[in-house]
Amino acid sequence: MALIEISHLSFGYRRAPVIEDLDLSIEGEGVTALLGPNGSGKTTLLKLLLGLLAPTAGRIRIGGDDIGDLTQKELACRLAYVPQVHKETFGYSVFDVVLMGRMPRTSFFARYGDADRGAAREALDKLSIAHLADRPYTEISGGERQMTLIARALAQGADIFVMDEPTNGLDYGNQLRLLDRIGRLAAEGYTFIYTTHHPDHALAVADRVVMMKDGRVVREGAPQAVLTTQGLAELYNLSDRLCTCFGAPSRTPLRAAL
Ligand code: ADP
Ligand code: MG
Repeated sequence: MALIEISHLSFGYRRAPVIEDLDLSIEGEGVTALLGPNGSGKTTLLKLLLGLLAPTAGRIRIGGDDIGDLTQKELACRLAYVPQVHKETFGYSVFDVVLMGRMPRTSFFARYGDADRGAAREALDKLSIAHLADRPYTEISGGERQMTLIARALAQGADIFVMDEPTNGLDYGNQLRLLDRIGRLAAEGYTFIYTTHHPDHALAVADRVVMMKDGRVVREGAPQAVLTTQGLAELYNLSDRLCTCFGAPSRTPLRAAL
């Protein structure tokens, strides 16, 4: 059974379809990078996966269960959304931001208990940010915030993480640190599904690449097989001249150096 099975999925905000009869199967753990031009439906697909939008047709199964049959809480225990780094108004401590990841696991009236605090501490340790626990989230750097948000998703107890353009707004060093962290967590058995505009980032950490255009999957497979000059030229409507100038990315995968 595939970990995530998307079949005949369609969705439109108004009359025009944004996702059209999309089939995608993610067999097991690892990193899936979703690439495609602006407006191709990547964010919409992630929202459908997170149960924030309801498909007009088709279905999404996680571990064999149709997500339409799961409560939002049940879904949150399997699938966590890791938002892009944002500026919080309130100065919650890093520990409290991570602890809030436990929300789907508590009952409506219950306070956070020892098990929740333990899970938050464990997540901070795993991301090597235990030393930031008492610092206000508003006062840490962008890179540290992104690690805090991943720790929150870990504390949530899900093992599939969904990220929409996670490297946006991070400086070059923090982009690489984030990709490295994604690779390390994937090596431990976590699953990542993330969108990116950087083929070289996908090549560095992804196990599989899915190219989307006009609400459909146009190409998918191993990064080296999919992220070719021709594949990228077709996906982004690039001229021969631009392709010859920039070519396809060729890098030693970051994962290989783990
Ligand atoms: P991507 O993430 O690949 O850039 P999106 O999923 O954000 O693409 O958008 C796909 C299409 O859906 C675009 O044409 C966009 O304008 C449209 N769209 C996105 N969000 C909404 C919305 N809330 N209401 C109406 N149309 C939307
Ligand atoms: Mg988007």
